[in-house]
Amino acid sequence: MNSQRDLRQELLRQIPAVDQILQRPSVASWVNRTSRGFVVSEIQTLLARLRSDLRGTGAPADNAVDVAGIEMQLTERLQYRISPVLTTVINATGVILHTNLGRAPLSAAAQKSLSAVSAQYTNVEYDLDRGARSHRDQLVEPVLMELLGCEAATVVNNNAAAVFLILDTHATGKEVVVSRGELIEIGGSFRIPEIMARSGARLCEVGTTNKTRLADYEAAIGPETAMLLRVHTSNYRIRGFTERPSLGELADLARRCNLPLVEDIGSGSLVDLKPYGIADEPMAQDSIAAGVALVCFSADKLLGGPQAGIIAGSRRWLDPIRRNPLMRTYRVDKLVYGALEATLISYRTGQALREIPVLRLLSMPLQELTLRGKRFLRRLRSTLPPGASAVALAGESVVGGGSCPDVSLPTLLLALTSDQLSANEIETRLRRQHPPIIARLEDDRVLIDLRTVFLAQEKTLQKGIIEAMS
Ligand SMILES: *Cc1c(COP(=O)(O)O)cnc(C)c1O
Repeated sequence: MNSQRDLRQELLRQIPAVDQILQRPSVASWVNRTSRGFVVSEIQTLLARLRSDLRGTGAPADNAVDVAGIEMQLTERLQYRISPVLTTVINATGVILHTNLGRAPLSAAAQKSLSAVSAQYTNVEYDLDRGARSHRDQLVEPVLMELLGCEAATVVNNNAAAVFLILDTHATGKEVVVSRGELIEIGGSFRIPEIMARSGARLCEVGTTNKTRLADYEAAIGPETAMLLRVHTSNYRIRGFTERPSLGELADLARRCNLPLVEDIGSGSLVDLKPYGIADEPMAQDSIAAGVALVCFSADKLLGGPQAGIIAGSRRWLDPIRRNPLMRTYRVDKLVYGALEATLISYRTGQALREIPVLRLLSMPLQELTLRGKRFLRRLRSTLPPGASAVALAGESVVGGGSCPDVSLPTLLLALTSDQLSANEIETRLRRQHPPIIARLEDDRVLIDLRTVFLAQEKTLQKGIIEAMS
């Protein structure tokens, strides 16, 4: 006991001084590349931790205070400290719109626009013809008008903000009529009744969970009514004995009563996805055509763009929203406008299915996934460590992002197992790779779905799997 205490005391005395560490060549080069203050503070943190370790209970290693060892730990720490926490990952889950993984990956054109716009001055609020101030909506409003057939459109931070701003502008202190079957909760605590309460609007529920008729809406309309609201039940479906009026019927009723019909369609696809098995996602242009006053949707769900919320419809109902002082608090950056406009241009040119990753992944045929999967499996097997195995099996990818709850897209899955490692361990090790690999964990197996893995990532994925299973 005594000798161990002596050893501790001795080691504590031998801890090198900050200046001594600063003189090591690799540390000096860090000082050159960053700053003396930064490196000194990291050295102090490291030495403080070392001191507290030495005073702790575990038996200290003989070389605990070795300068070369400390230097190595320090450079590792410095490298870690200059690396951003936000990083790219390989999404091997097969969930196309994975909210935790940042929803839609952007198209090449959107990336290009982002990078160009980010480093230079732009005309974000400047009219180049008149040489005068303009509104940032002028950047995307024309293409939205064209694609949706609407009179006006604006962009806010996300669709939750869009819903809130619409209610705050048009319904504060008044009633909003909503069907009981549409009082949704979207992940991340976005709930229609709560957002409505916050906006100061009163919720007027009509109908029942499964059946709401036009007459129910009609009966609820009174002097206090400000708006009819229709909400797409993005993440659940009510099936069986159900009924609800068509959007056109609701729009007629709203018009007769001089009220706006607002529709939150959630994902807001701009192309028909029926050929790819997605039958009941509303299209924004259909809502406009049916006569809604305003429609709102996310830009980073099925649209495949950056995070934003789009509000489109008639000028009469949109202009007051633009003038709402809260609009400023939901304003989006030039980067978002750049990426969004580039994304929308792919729809204008009819190239969306080819150019927008979300749509490409959605529409990827099983045949292509099978081919890729088998080729990948062959290459992987030839390099797998002993005790590790990979097999192909039929499975399903999902759209995700709180949309298309019923849709499953047939895919080929690769199941990874090992004699030495549990499925949990494999999954964790995959997650610790650089870049991290996010896989599915199901029935005590680790599953890889290549649908959401980009071709250019396959080599890195293979390397990561091998490393994780070794
Ligand atoms: C996803 C969704 C929202 C929230 O959209 P964000 O862009 O995530 O803020 C609101 N309403 C519906 C119906 C949705 O599907």
